Amino acid sequence: MTAVSYQSVAYLIAALLFILALAGLSRQKTAKRGNYLGITGMAIALAATIGIALLGAEQPLLVVGLMAAAIVVGGAFGVWKARHVQMTEMPQLVALLHCFVGLAAVLVGFNSFLMQPGGYFEGQTNIYHLGEVGLAVFIGGVTFTGSIVANLKLSAKISGKPLLLPGRNFLNLMMLLAYVVLVALFGMTTGVEAGLPFLVAIAAVSLVLGAHLVLAIGGGDMPVVVSMLNSYSGWAAAMAGFTLGNDLLIVTGALVGSSGAYLSYIMCKGMNRSFTSVILGGFGDTPAKSGASKAQDLGEHTEVTTDEVAAMLKKAKSVVIAPGYGMAVAQAQFPVADLTKRLQKEGVDVKFAIHPVAGRMPGHMNVLLAEAKVPYDSVYEMDEVNDDFGNVDVVLVIGANDTVNPSAETEPDSPIAGMPVLRVWEAGKVIVFKRSMGNAGYSGVQNPLFFNDNTDMLLGDAKASVDAIVKAL
Ligand code: NDP
Repeated sequence: MTAVSYQSVAYLIAALLFILALAGLSRQKTAKRGNYLGITGMAIALAATIGIALLGAEQPLLVVGLMAAAIVVGGAFGVWKARHVQMTEMPQLVALLHCFVGLAAVLVGFNSFLMQPGGYFEGQTNIYHLGEVGLAVFIGGVTFTGSIVANLKLSAKISGKPLLLPGRNFLNLMMLLAYVVLVALFGMTTGVEAGLPFLVAIAAVSLVLGAHLVLAIGGGDMPVVVSMLNSYSGWAAAMAGFTLGNDLLIVTGALVGSSGAYLSYIMCKGMNRSFTSVILGGFGDTPAKSGASKAQDLGEHTEVTTDEVAAMLKKAKSVVIAPGYGMAVAQAQFPVADLTKRLQKEGVDVKFAIHPVAGRMPGHMNVLLAEAKVPYDSVYEMDEVNDDFGNVDVVLVIGANDTVNPSAETEPDSPIAGMPVLRVWEAGKVIVFKRSMGNAGYSGVQNPLFFNDNTDMLLGDAKASVDAIVKAL
């Protein structure tokens, strides 16, 4: 076998491992295995790529040195960032990582053009190669600036308010048309001098379009945008794969692109938003920080103490825990896992009900519960438990708000109308853990659940409250 066939076999194995990794990651039970398969695939892909680069290189030592430097610098930054990032900052970190993929696609596109302006037919016009380069630079550019804006919005470094320029959709359309014209003209050029101005213009249009697209989207929709940018970054990588003639990059990019697109779809469904309305922007304004203004309309709330909750739990036969963003903020997953263990030991049936958009990223709650070693078989998706709340004695709503808000079902004018929610209010008793009555959930909407007769509020930090309940038990 030649070196190239060895590389093809290695790439094929790596691609299969990536597909198996995605399959593994789709379920909590198999997620760890999925991760290991992905790591193995990446190690094989890296080894094959470096091996081939070395074989074909005129100065192998220089190539090794450059690659090692890139891996060390990138790896050190990645490890440092991963160690320091708070769980609540994950969405902005993911956005930052996507911007690197976009930038890489732009650089690969430029490099591939400058080194081989006409592709395989040097000195002639090769519309296919130039088309690939143009598309890679365009998608990469949109991903690059779009991800930077998403990162800045999510980390509150710029306002989360949508930037609504007059005729913004028309502007986007014009930029898209400009790209189509530019890439057509670019494809007809021969040589670096003729083509470079068009490629630079394509890059400039894509950078402006990426920033404008995301600036027009409100902070409320930003997590969906991050998942959408994840998809773009995949397609950008796939295009870079075409320009480099690298099959593995094409397969990997397509896997990321399609899984990111599907994830965006699931998130939109979980929030009852249409994908187009998210992309076109203007919705999902900055979440209101206070929704207390309507509190008096909804009546009086009642409060309980941790001792009283402990007594209730002792008597209960079945308990459901509905966690939300507040559990992540409080880092309450560890005492929650402890509480679960204790109750299960006493023979209480304890289940977790996970809403698809609880927290700030898909799977947020599953990650926290897995971190605290909550057994997988106690963790249920919303659809698996939503019809059974009538048979539940006590529901503990720990730092969740929008995802348990009945107005999504009862108030057609509510900003969250139509969003599927956990019907916790059908249970015998609901205990809501939150810090104060003053703050609303992410959507800024007041929650009538808090004022129901069968709801009691346990005000205070969720971790401190659960710790106290465990102590009382
Ligand atoms: P919410 O953001 O609606 O509510 C969080 C609750 O946690 C609040 O009631 C808050 O009240 C409470 N809280 C915050 N900190 C603490 C603490 N330390 N201790 C106790 N309570 C605390 O959370 P949900 O998970 O119910 O809903 C998620 C929202 O995010 C939805 O609107 C969803 O659409 C949106 N979203 C989610 C995405 C995802 O992928 N998961 C993506 C895009 C949007 P208080 O401040 O008074 O303590």
